[in-house]
Amino acid sequence: MAEDSRAPARYVWITVGLAVASSLWFVLFSTVGAGHAAIAYLAVPLEGAVAVAALFQLWRTVRGDRTAGPFWLTLLIAAVFMTIGYVLMAVNAALHTVGDLPPDMPLSAAGFVGLGFALAMWAVGRVPVGAMHPGERWRMHLDRLVAFLGGATVLWHFGLAPMLTADERWSAQTLSLVGLAFLLTIAGITKVSYLGDGPVDRTAMRLVATMGLTAAGVAVMASSFGNAGGVPSQSVVLPIAPVLLTLAVRVQARATLGGRRVSRRSSPLLPYLAIAAGDLPLIAVAVGPLQWPGRVSLIAAVLVSVLVTVRQFVAFRDNKRLLSDIRGQEERLQHEVSHDSLTGLANRARFRDVLHAALATGTSATVLLVDLDDFKTVNDSLGHDVGDRLLVAVADVLRGQSGADGLPIRIGGDEFAVLLTGGTTVGETVAQRILNALTRPISEQRLLVQASIGIATAAPGATIDSVLRDADVAMYAAKGHGKAGYVRYVPGMEEPILAHIQLGGELRRGLDSGEFRVVYQPVMSLLDGRIIGVEALARWDHPIRGQVPPSEFIAVAERTGLIVELGRFVLRETCRQTATWLAEFGPDALQKPSVNVSARQLHDPDFVAGVLAALADSGLPTSRLVLELTESAVLRGSQVSRTLHELDRLGVALALDDFGTGESSLSLLRSFPAKIVKLDKSFVDGIEVEDAEPGARDARQAVARAIIQLADALGLETVAEGIENEAQAEQLRQLGYTLGQGYHLARPMPPEEFTRLLAAQRRAVIA
Ligand code: C2E
Ligand code: MG
Ligand code: MG
Repeated sequence: MAEDSRAPARYVWITVGLAVASSLWFVLFSTVGAGHAAIAYLAVPLEGAVAVAALFQLWRTVRGDRTAGPFWLTLLIAAVFMTIGYVLMAVNAALHTVGDLPPDMPLSAAGFVGLGFALAMWAVGRVPVGAMHPGERWRMHLDRLVAFLGGATVLWHFGLAPMLTADERWSAQTLSLVGLAFLLTIAGITKVSYLGDGPVDRTAMRLVATMGLTAAGVAVMASSFGNAGGVPSQSVVLPIAPVLLTLAVRVQARATLGGRRVSRRSSPLLPYLAIAAGDLPLIAVAVGPLQWPGRVSLIAAVLVSVLVTVRQFVAFRDNKRLLSDIRGQEERLQHEVSHDSLTGLANRARFRDVLHAALATGTSATVLLVDLDDFKTVNDSLGHDVGDRLLVAVADVLRGQSGADGLPIRIGGDEFAVLLTGGTTVGETVAQRILNALTRPISEQRLLVQASIGIATAAPGATIDSVLRDADVAMYAAKGHGKAGYVRYVPGMEEPILAHIQLGGELRRGLDSGEFRVVYQPVMSLLDGRIIGVEALARWDHPIRGQVPPSEFIAVAERTGLIVELGRFVLRETCRQTATWLAEFGPDALQKPSVNVSARQLHDPDFVAGVLAALADSGLPTSRLVLELTESAVLRGSQVSRTLHELDRLGVALALDDFGTGESSLSLLRSFPAKIVKLDKSFVDGIEVEDAEPGARDARQAVARAIIQLADALGLETVAEGIENEAQAEQLRQLGYTLGQGYHLARPMPPEEFTRLLAAQRRAVIA
């Protein structure tokens, strides 16, 4: 490898050495007349042989490449032909030189050299320029034609034309060789300007193409010195060509070894250089007498400028198309950054921009924040596709109901907004229109959605953030008032909400500092008063607020996610406590402890593992534990459903809490693996009152009766909740209920009290 990389450099040095030696000889020859004129013909064939060797070595390393291989092989063959031609020329010179004037070149030599030139030109022409657009290709061809003509004009005017019109008659072979060399040079140079990064190195190509310039040198020598120019041409000018060739080999070898790649650079200057080049003969023509070669130069220069004009027109047309493309792209981009991709509504960024503009100019601005109620349930249970289509349908409703000066917006997720500017439309009117439109089912799935809307109008001096916060507060208030409604912001409205937020922070601290404890409410037999089970209920002893009721902190814990941690605490504590009681009072003392579980806990992927760990750590048998869930918690999609079935399989009993208050109670009983149904307190309240409101009492009794019949039919246990007096207990007994829970039987109590209760029961049994 190291040998390979150094060898090309050696070839360069040898050719340089020969070229320099030959030039030195010419100096001696022309000053002191040293040696024979035929010596001028020695350098080129010798260098040619060196170049052939260099090319051969290079070809061996690149022959595997589909582009570089043939290119360098063709050049190798071309070099062989040219070297043979020059050897023939040298022999001819040695034999036929008369005095200082070498003979004209033999036809055979011209043939070889010419063939070599043609091959080299073909090699350059074959190198692919790489992938281009049709427009680009067109421009490239025009550019190359322009450059070619420009270059050709110069070489014609200063090289060939003087030779043609010289007093001395130049042989046909010399003229055609010089002409051919010109063509190679110009074609090569224009081509190289467009060469992309490819296996054939750009610089190497440029060096090969430049070889042809030596022909221009020969032409200049010939037109200046006539036949006497043959000696300096052969000894000084032509020896440069093999040097360029070996240099090209070296550059290519380095590029191949180093993996160097040059990226394509089209040459926008090329046509202009061509015009400038074409102007040189024009100046020459202007100062000299006009002869026919001058006319050719003139016509060529005019042609170049015509072509450049055409080229400019093509570029202009391309630019126009490009510009309109860019403009279209810009508009699309502008739309994308200011609009929501799913619904096509304006997005949050645009919302803020428009609101900002309204506030800055003092235009009245009212914001309606529209939040869909229970959208997550739709998403979880029916899938994201259905959820997306529902959002699109809601967007259509907003578009239809926003009115002329309303801008509908999708803020993100299931949150939308309408921004009313101009002051002619009242926020409440639009809110009511939206709610009315949503009373009908929407989307392909004919879904019924409800929304809660908060309305806030910017007060003087309001900022974007203050308006949005007010609307947000109003929206929360609307949700709090039972869903599907609108509420306008009034100052002070945020206080309870802020309190809620504050409570969230305190809950975290309360959990960390152990302010929570568990109380136990017995579940008893309505027939003999025996303790059957116990429900664990969380209590928060707040250091300042005192006892915070679960009706306040459970909701906050659910919203902040802290319910997962709180629930885990209650579960572990209950399992531990129950296991202690069972150890102390025996397995019959207490059948079933139950723990409340929120929907949010069921979404926790570690929930089942947590339950199993609590059981294992306490030693409580799995079959003893009951988990209480509300109907809405159970209806939370397939993942929750899988969790519940897994718990059921493991042997944990599931109870439906507050049964009868939900919307789908009956169908739920079939799909949900429940063992126990807890009749909600609202059906127990007033069940005993005989005379007050007979209709209401009958309805409650009917529900209580229907539920126990259904539960019996399905083989489920029932527990009546919230029994506050004996009359209720009696009524429930008559309906067939055997288990109950309520203040009449026992209040929730701390564990020590429950221990005493169990002890009393044991004494009673023994007695
Ligand atoms: P729940 O599961 O329906 O629990 C029964 C609630 O009714 C308890 O209220 C209990 O004290 C109360 N209660 C029992 N008998 C009577 C009665 O005769 N009259 C009246 N007026 N009320 C009675 P509490 O302890 O305030 O709990 C309220 C709700 O908070 C519970 O309803 C439950 O849904 C939730 N909760 C309590 N502790 C936890 C917990 O650890 N985790 C979860 N996720 N929720 C809990
Ligand atoms: Mg409960
Ligand atoms: Mg309940």
